[in-house]
Amino acid sequence: MHIDLTQRVAVVTGGANGIGRATARRLAHSGARVAIWDRVVAVGEAAAAALAGEGLEVCFIEADVTQRASVNAAVAATVARFGGIDILINNAGITRDAQLVKSKDGAVTGGMTDDEFDDVIAVNLKGVYTCTQAVVPELLKRGGGRIVNASSVVALHGNFGQTNYVATKAGVIGMTQVWARELGKRNITVNAIAPGFIATDMTAKMPASALDAMLAHTPAGRLGSPEDVANAYCFLVSDAAAFINGVVLSVDGGLVIGT
Ligand code: NAD
Repeated sequence: MHIDLTQRVAVVTGGANGIGRATARRLAHSGARVAIWDRVVAVGEAAAAALAGEGLEVCFIEADVTQRASVNAAVAATVARFGGIDILINNAGITRDAQLVKSKDGAVTGGMTDDEFDDVIAVNLKGVYTCTQAVVPELLKRGGGRIVNASSVVALHGNFGQTNYVATKAGVIGMTQVWARELGKRNITVNAIAPGFIATDMTAKMPASALDAMLAHTPAGRLGSPEDVANAYCFLVSDAAAFINGVVLSVDGGLVIGT
């Protein structure tokens, strides 16, 4: 499908790496002007420079999605650079995996810490809330827009060792459904993507045995690529998806169905 995003300005949070970077590239190749927001400055600048080297209109703007002042400054910088915002991809995310309670021979040996829980909530859940609240006024000025949030297959089914992460990704689905109702009336669609296991730095941290178990249940028989997910984001922000609002689109090679 040919997708034309000419005249659109897109923000991709966490766009310095992985799925975000591939999404910035995909949207820019479809004609959008793209602001990569990320907290890693050198990597983000290098990503934007590499995409600019392909002849794409991409810039890097430093932003920490956990800090409202930083997000507000990033909105202002994006509008100063590109004149407005039409598309928000809430992609920034982290993991801090640990079992709820670890025990051996009936004795507790460890477990998830409050810091591990709070750090993940701050980025994956509150960061999505903060960025969306800050960007929506810009979408309203343009008469509408598109928001797509990063959920995960684990939001739908849980995952061992991810109490914090699963809570955020399930929460993102809830916020997506609320905003689809609240903003749908304003010509803004809000959807979520639930990737399966995608080959990025995030999954590189997972034990090989856990990834092998996932692959064994995936009809596609492979990990997803960042481009697989980027294509789904690109479709959901396009005119072709104008009547799609409040959905969770799985991009998981059939993992949920199983083999
Ligand atoms: P990644 O670790 O490769 O990239 C995440 C990016 O987010 C990094 O550039 C990082 O610097 C940025 N980031 C982290 N905290 C930030 C903050 N406070 N402010 C701004 N930027 C911040 O991750 P990825 O694998 O590309 O995942 C992208 C999104 O997709 C995440 O939300 C993740 O939860 C979700 N997801 C990934 C997978 C997977 O298998 N990789 C599966 C399902 C969902």
